[in-house]
Amino acid sequence: MIIATDLDRTLLPNGYEEYGHNLPLFFQLIRKNKLTLVYATGRNWKLFQEAKKIFKIEDPDYFIGEVGTVLYEKSPKKSFFQLKNKLVISQEWQKYLKNKAKNWNAEKLKKRFQIIKELKLQEKDKQNTYKLSYYLSDTTNQSKILTKIKTLAQEETIKINLISSWDPLKKVRLIDILPATVTKTTALEFIRRKKHLSKEEVVYCGDSGNDIAALTIGYKSILVKNAREEIKKKVLKINQDLGRSKNLYIAKGVGKWNGYYVAGILEGLKHFKII
Ligand SMILES: [Mg+2]
Repeated sequence: MIIATDLDRTLLPNGYEEYGHNLPLFFQLIRKNKLTLVYATGRNWKLFQEAKKIFKIEDPDYFIGEVGTVLYEKSPKKSFFQLKNKLVISQEWQKYLKNKAKNWNAEKLKKRFQIIKELKLQEKDKQNTYKLSYYLSDTTNQSKILTKIKTLAQEETIKINLISSWDPLKKVRLIDILPATVTKTTALEFIRRKKHLSKEEVVYCGDSGNDIAALTIGYKSILVKNAREEIKKKVLKINQDLGRSKNLYIAKGVGKWNGYYVAGILEGLKHFKII
């Protein structure tokens, strides 16, 4: 069984809601139940290392970074004396990506998007070959701007995947533009097929816009309580329309678990009888 989770404000308690100090229990239960742990995040490798230090989270078996544009996996042990398997870039995934996103051209798109004044490029280390990341400085015309982005990409005949999410700490809207064929879910599907598992054998935990695809694809899905209402409604509606309401669990806070962040994940795993 795979337990895949978003990091910020899902596994990591970096929001305004109260943290119930359940991370140690989570890792203990992952190990005890021999679950395959996957992180699926917008963070890059460097920001993941920072999160590890600050929140004392353990290494996963797979790390899907930068919204699905990079994948790390645990390398096989090289010798008896090597204690831990190290996470290394998956070359297989890099090849797969290259093939899947043949039409992608970040430079071309970046140039075209310059005419949208409300888009401000994020820091250099937030960009990569397969991802353009922006801050949306003015959200009053948000839907118009998103349409404009899509139109400009269309004019370049580049199919894009547009992810808009809200950073409640920086209080800013984030826009990620990736090849249409690449999401956190694409990478997770790649792992799932590699392990010959069904969708029912994957649990995905998330809280925001870039988790919606994974929360509605047919995995067992957990939304933590601190997710925004609009996300809860949207994910619930899609799952209902697809006749998959049973696959979704929205944490409410039960007993000693308050439903926020990792407590919400634990509540969901209990609901699905995985722990
Ligand atoms: Mg998140």
